[in-house]
Amino acid sequence: MSYDQPQNITVLGATGSIGSSTLDVVARHPGRFRVHALSAHRQVGALAELCRRFRPRFAVIGDRDAATRLQQELESLSVTVLVGEEGLCQVAADPDTDTVMAAIVGGAGLAPTMAAVREGKRVLLANKEALVMSGGLFMDAVRQHGATLLPIDSEHNAIFQCLPPEQIRAPEQAGVTRILLTASGGPFRETPLAELREVTPEQACAHPNWSMGRKISVDSATLMNKGLELIEACWLFNTTPDRIEVHVHPESIIHSMVEYRDGSVLAQLGSPDMRTPIANALAWPERIDAGVSPLDLFELASFHFQRPDLERFPNLRLAAEAFASGGSAPAILNAANEVAVDAFLAGRIAFTDMAALNEQMLASMVSRDLESIEDVLEQDREARARATQLLSAWDVRV
Ligand code: NAD
Ligand code: MG
Repeated sequence: MSYDQPQNITVLGATGSIGSSTLDVVARHPGRFRVHALSAHRQVGALAELCRRFRPRFAVIGDRDAATRLQQELESLSVTVLVGEEGLCQVAADPDTDTVMAAIVGGAGLAPTMAAVREGKRVLLANKEALVMSGGLFMDAVRQHGATLLPIDSEHNAIFQCLPPEQIRAPEQAGVTRILLTASGGPFRETPLAELREVTPEQACAHPNWSMGRKISVDSATLMNKGLELIEACWLFNTTPDRIEVHVHPESIIHSMVEYRDGSVLAQLGSPDMRTPIANALAWPERIDAGVSPLDLFELASFHFQRPDLERFPNLRLAAEAFASGGSAPAILNAANEVAVDAFLAGRIAFTDMAALNEQMLASMVSRDLESIEDVLEQDREARARATQLLSAWDVRV
């Protein structure tokens, strides 16, 4: 890619935590990047504010009512307002879009992310759920359409940085023996098991090291995030769960490591600030300023590592099982988990019920082969309906 012209960026999920960090980095390099399109689900005011600041060609919002309000707010600007999934796919695939930051949360991001992949864009993938659901189909499309896929998840970005660029998808040939995927362990790493059932959404969302959206915060607290990341790593780096070892590292300074045959272990370190992986992917293979404070190793007393407690956090085991089952099992698990997290955040189920629902869903739904993205979306709808039905049959507490 030539940098004589600014890179046109489309940010899907611009009002979220990753969206905001992306725009923060973009704003530091006005000659290098141009904001082409921005999207939000419901936050009209926040999206309007971003449009006034970044002057994109397109803004996409969830529904018609919101679009009318957004249009009124943006009357004086030449921003075209689009609606819903169709609008998201349109801006992701737009011929003038060079780079797409896929930062919508959950399965809702799959169709627009795929639209970008199919147009061979440079795709910055934060939306791990999209890859978990569609796995091999997603990676095949990346290859077939010549898309450039760059991981934003801090762990995967770290692994990406520790692998030889030409062997990202063949780590074994590069002499890699293990990937050491780090995990903070979340806010309940040391909470007595008996107390886990009673923890609240507010406690679950108060992550010790990272400030993130509510869904990923809950996933971090149940270790489902690490389960999704295990599957994500298998697809991104063409490997299997037995070659990945999760290391709980409560300080969240080492973002992951790669072990080589000769005994070398390469690690990527940095402050827990998503602007680092975002800047890395935005500028790759160059390096740009991300606004992140330099790491002061003298200030850090020490690093700790623990094995994950699979009794406390069954989700990590479930994710490995779903990946091993193959087919639509990861899509089923992801859908179940999205329903579970929504129910937990709404106060309808207890913290420990989330993993219980995921387990019940994997046991009760038969995984099938997925041949197209339409199949994936159909499986996602079915699994959500089934999970919702299971929940309504439970004696859910309010
Ligand atoms: P967030 O909740 O802060 O933001 C989500 C964004 O997506 C918002 O702009 C929202 O308007 C939009 N959105 C939500 N539902 C939508 C829908 N149904 N249709 C269209 N748009 C919708 O989430 P986040 O923390 O920024 O996370 C975004 C993604 O990045 C997730 O997949 C998450 O796992 C991943 N990720 C986040 C972090 C982090 O530090 N926040 C780190 C690694 C990976
Ligand atoms: Mg992560």
